[in-house]
Amino acid sequence: MKRSSANHNTHGASTTLSAGKHAGHNTAMFFRKFWVSLILTIPVVLYADVVEKIFKWSPASFPGSEYLPFVFGSIVFFYGGSVFLAGAGREIKGKLPGMMTLIGIAISAAYLWSVYAVFAGLEALFWELTTLITIMLLGHWLEMRAVSGAQGALQELSKLLPDTAEVIRSGKTESISLSALLEGDIVLVRPGTKIPADGEIIDGDSNVNESMITGESKPVSKKNGDRVIAGTINGDGALKIKVAAIGEKTFLAGVMRLVAEAQASKSQLQILSDKAALYLTIIAVIGGVVTLIAWLLAGAEVSFAVARLVAVLVVACPHALGLAVPLVASISTTKAAQNGFLVKQRLALEAARTVDMILFDKTGTLTRGEFGVIDIWTATGQSKDDVLVLAASLNALSEHPIAKAVVLKAKERGVSLKEPKKFEALKGRGVRGLVDDREIMVGGPALLEEINLKLPNDLAGQAQEAGEKGQTVIFVVKDRTLLGVLTLADIIRQESREAIKALEELGIRTSMITGDSEDVARWVSQELGIDKYFARVLPHQKSEKVKELQKRGLRVAMVGDGINDAPALTQADLGIAIGAGTNVAIESAGIILIRNDPRDIVKIVKLSRLTYTKMIQNLFWATGYNVVALPLAAGLLAFKGILLEPALAAVFMSVSTVVVALNAMLLRKQKL
Ligand code: ADP
Ligand code: MG
Repeated sequence: MKRSSANHNTHGASTTLSAGKHAGHNTAMFFRKFWVSLILTIPVVLYADVVEKIFKWSPASFPGSEYLPFVFGSIVFFYGGSVFLAGAGREIKGKLPGMMTLIGIAISAAYLWSVYAVFAGLEALFWELTTLITIMLLGHWLEMRAVSGAQGALQELSKLLPDTAEVIRSGKTESISLSALLEGDIVLVRPGTKIPADGEIIDGDSNVNESMITGESKPVSKKNGDRVIAGTINGDGALKIKVAAIGEKTFLAGVMRLVAEAQASKSQLQILSDKAALYLTIIAVIGGVVTLIAWLLAGAEVSFAVARLVAVLVVACPHALGLAVPLVASISTTKAAQNGFLVKQRLALEAARTVDMILFDKTGTLTRGEFGVIDIWTATGQSKDDVLVLAASLNALSEHPIAKAVVLKAKERGVSLKEPKKFEALKGRGVRGLVDDREIMVGGPALLEEINLKLPNDLAGQAQEAGEKGQTVIFVVKDRTLLGVLTLADIIRQESREAIKALEELGIRTSMITGDSEDVARWVSQELGIDKYFARVLPHQKSEKVKELQKRGLRVAMVGDGINDAPALTQADLGIAIGAGTNVAIESAGIILIRNDPRDIVKIVKLSRLTYTKMIQNLFWATGYNVVALPLAAGLLAFKGILLEPALAAVFMSVSTVVVALNAMLLRKQKL
């Protein structure tokens, strides 16, 4: 199951890349056709009059030798040229004339004229025709090799999986094919072998190399109870793993799906270059015809004029242009996955390049979102446990990290919870519900403000003190009177500080946006060295804040993990979700941080900039040569004796394509 679906994805991605160009062709066929054409071309060139003109020498003639170029030329045209003719047919049927159409017209024109010339006793173009086809075949072969090298990265991902797994069923170990593996199976992973499925270690410890998935180069030490990912490589220990996810459900399958999706989604530059390729084709056909007619009107020989037509058509081929952007895009999405982030939308990665400001959510993003309850204070006549029971009973239904901490504390103290009714999450403020038919609310300062509840002086002072130490303070309210206060502390991610510093160095401003209190926000942003913070922001205000900044002309990225961050993630020019965050956040974002490491944002920006530079370079290489070569091919400098013969035009075109492919591949080597 897994393998076939995985391969299917890979295939889908590669067809989108080369659709309409090499559909149905394979590398080996091009190679064979190239050799046959080359061997036949040599005698054609020797018996052509160019050799005689230049070297004042010609091979011995024999009866019928004057027909040799015609016969061999015809074989090359039909055998070698057929791929181009078929391709042209496909393009025209698909109403998307492109490179194949141009080559098709060019070789057909040269061939038809030459056949006529043979019988009319005029100058034929056989040597030009055969060299052109041979070089085109070579160029295509080189290019297909380069392209498959560039696309390989995605295929590499599917190769990460082993073919078989050793499963332990009813006490016996047997080797089965991966597709026969079931969820809940226990598999044995021997030292040095690949882990076949996502799962949990139930026996053994080892170091696992996860670099192919997370980019983390050091092996990660794993023991009982730790999770492992399919496709990673086991170190020296033997592991028994309980399979949690197979096939489509594994993390790796998810990565491949996203990579394939992102490759299918077109970038702005892609759309632009597709259009440019179509226009170039149209210009080439018109330019070719104009060139032909102009030379004929100027009284040139027909064969000379046809040769100019052929050269113009060949030189104008938008071949390199068609590859310039998709190749780079394909490499950059795979590179992203290797560096700890998944690109869901191509446009998001593109936007990262020009971002002016990054807004960070606090809880769960800059901090780990792993709270611990520090203290409980009570208002008149309550016990700490009374307060805790109410807070935990309601929060048992909440997904918020604060809620988890409160429930954990209740468990630790061994108090039993009650069944709440009419539970409701007040996003960004807290929770509300009925316990024992009395209205209970648990939440932060925004909640108190909403219900107009003032803290008694002593508690207000204590709450402020806690806030100044970076502790989050929440209040438990029963029937609109305050019962007690809980203080909680979160852990700041150490990586956050480095991330902020590196982003500032790249010239990007950072701010924090949080639903938490002013005091906590100030403390955290001082700890992290963040420019600016917005505190006590309600969920809908988060996206409004983004809008407001955008109106001031800033390009804004938002980083978040929670349900309350989702609208802002969508609104931002670039939405980045923490991988461990809620599904809603992940759905709303364009890029996901697999490792939950804010430092990877720096890599996003760098990759975005690199990708853009590469694409622009490639567009330059792909089109630049046309500008120079087109007039030469048309014969504009013929009066100075400078002419671009069709075969040389083909060399130009092929070289530019190969340069584009190789340039794209250099991106792989770059460090982020
Ligand atoms: P952030 O924007 O930093 O991610 P949230 O918007 O998720 O924070 O939460 C903002 C504030 O709302 C919290 O600091 C807390 O005061 C309050 N809050 C939210 N959910 C809960 C809950 N389940 N229990 C108690 N307080 C909550
Ligand atoms: Mg959050």
